[in-house]
Amino acid sequence: MTDPNTTIIEGRRADTGRRIRLVANGGFVASMEETESPGQAAAGPDELWIAPGFVDLQINGYGGEDINLTGTDMHRRVETVKRLVRAVLASGTTSFCPTVITASFEQMKDCMTAVRLACEQDELTASAVAGIHMEGPYISGENGPRGAHPAEHVRDPDWAEFSAWQEASGDRIRLVTLAPERPGAAEFIRKLTEAGVVASIGHTAADHDHIAAAAEAGARMSTHLGNGAHPQLPRHPHYIWSQLAEDRLAASVICDGHHLHFSVVNVMHKVKGETLLLVSDAVHLAGLPPGTYRTHVGGEVELLPSGRLHMVDNPNLLAGSAVSLADCVGRFAQMTGSPLATAVAMATDRPARLLGCAGIGTLEIGQAADVVTFRWNAEAGKLDVQAVYKRGRLVGPERRGEIVPRT
Ligand SMILES: [Zn+2]
Repeated sequence: MTDPNTTIIEGRRADTGRRIRLVANGGFVASMEETESPGQAAAGPDELWIAPGFVDLQINGYGGEDINLTGTDMHRRVETVKRLVRAVLASGTTSFCPTVITASFEQMKDCMTAVRLACEQDELTASAVAGIHMEGPYISGENGPRGAHPAEHVRDPDWAEFSAWQEASGDRIRLVTLAPERPGAAEFIRKLTEAGVVASIGHTAADHDHIAAAAEAGARMSTHLGNGAHPQLPRHPHYIWSQLAEDRLAASVICDGHHLHFSVVNVMHKVKGETLLLVSDAVHLAGLPPGTYRTHVGGEVELLPSGRLHMVDNPNLLAGSAVSLADCVGRFAQMTGSPLATAVAMATDRPARLLGCAGIGTLEIGQAADVVTFRWNAEAGKLDVQAVYKRGRLVGPERRGEIVPRT
């Protein structure tokens, strides 16, 4: 008789390259046995790979669900968060930071409250939300660095305001992206750091000294380095060089094949080494079929089969990222020629450690059985998710509304 609490997952570990049989019990990894016999053939194209579920520090939305929904009641917001969690899980990402962006005090508070209520009401949501990423509103007001954040709500850091949001979230804000040139930013970063919240530099037009001061105050990351920047910069110095040169700063990159040229990704990889990590920065259209969509921020956008999302009237202008973190892992390995193990670590262990999340991002006995299996086409840079397990339970991939395990 099979135990309903037991799940058996077999595949070749992405980190060690060894074939294993993983047994999960009660939601945790109970055992991992190597099944490889000496002299076994190298991985073939049909190989089923196994890795920890992906950990994404930046998701605005997925599968049509938008965390930054406006003009709606709390019930709908909370249900949106729960549906978003399920859509994200089905993509292979088993822990993530819903990302609340620049808006009015009330709007941001409602977003924070919705995440808290969804976590309180729904166990799956609580286990998938690694913390909230608050991106803005304490960012640059300049066109370029500001990105798509609304200019009228960009402002200087305010600890009392942040504290009200942190309270609404039930202490779930774990990552804050801000611009260090804003008055009071260094002091604000110091307070965040003391409170155990990771401060990250992003959407900034800071000079070198402001970036150094932010690192000194405790900032630990650059958010989607190379994006949310001016289209043109002086050759040197400027804020991208300064952040690249600053060893105290890890960096996240959107490696979807559209946001950064492969030469830039390669340089960042060489400079940041083991502190470079991947984020999807997905918007709500990610995970939907290619086509033309009308967005609530205005304007028609087109989603191409390649995952590129741009404005219909100006195809040079990206309208956000529309890929999953699994897609980014594949793209990164292809762009840089890195081993699969490195690309996977950048989307599992590294973000989990940066956020200080114990028990996720690695495959170890006693840890949560958050596992993804996939096929890997190195030439095409394509990682094809086959099964997703959250706490040992099959949660994806989703195909036409149905969960179809293909292992
Ligand atoms: Zn951003």
